[in-house]
Amino acid sequence: MNFKLLSIKIAPGIAYGSIMKKLLKGILEFRNKFHGHYIENYSHLALGQFPDTLFVACSDSRVVPNLFASTNPGDLFVIRNVGNMIPMYTTASSCMGTGEAAAIEFSLTNLPISNIIVCGHSECAAMKAMSTGLEKIEDPFLKTWLSNYDYPLDAIYDQLEFDEGISDHNKLAQMNVLRQIQHVKGYPIVEEKIANGSLQIHGWYFDIGKGDVYGYEQEFKRFVLIDECEAKRICDRLDHIHQDCCS
Ligand SMILES: [Zn+2]
Repeated sequence: MNFKLLSIKIAPGIAYGSIMKKLLKGILEFRNKFHGHYIENYSHLALGQFPDTLFVACSDSRVVPNLFASTNPGDLFVIRNVGNMIPMYTTASSCMGTGEAAAIEFSLTNLPISNIIVCGHSECAAMKAMSTGLEKIEDPFLKTWLSNYDYPLDAIYDQLEFDEGISDHNKLAQMNVLRQIQHVKGYPIVEEKIANGSLQIHGWYFDIGKGDVYGYEQEFKRFVLIDECEAKRICDRLDHIHQDCCS
């Protein structure tokens, strides 16, 4: 890379025409303004990672868990893919060879993971495609990927009630969170840790238009806005695992 050219192109005051240039400007800004502030933390992180949460989210560019949950480097071990999907557990190579299965295995075996969050979101293109019919998708890889998860959701309908006026694809996004939680629970290591009380699974839904996050509450059969009251409810459930939760 021509660093001289780069330094000219991204000099202060220039209007940036692409996200790539914004990224480069951001790297320089980070180095200039924040490097010193974060260097001690990064030196510590270089020794190892100790996240207690595995976060499953969609690849969608508008879903930024580090922003809406105010997390720092080292806080979350993350799986992201189109539709925040987790392959159903099977010993077949079709499951064994997936990045999602490897990430579940690695994080639960090697890291102090005590929570898994499956986070769906509103206006998800994958959910729109599934709710209108996969036969309309022309992209073969995407069609094959989503077809793995295109099966009836009758059992999930009984577990969920929706806010009035919610669109079909946003309903599906919420149902899909519960479906992927079922898939996560199918992995033996997840099953084992839930059984011995060292792991909890959470379903979240991020509303892009409102910037709000909702948590699934089995008791209420719905996704509930994570305000102070709901955060307290979730923390109370965590307390027997994390004695210092929310302190
Ligand atoms: Zn999405």
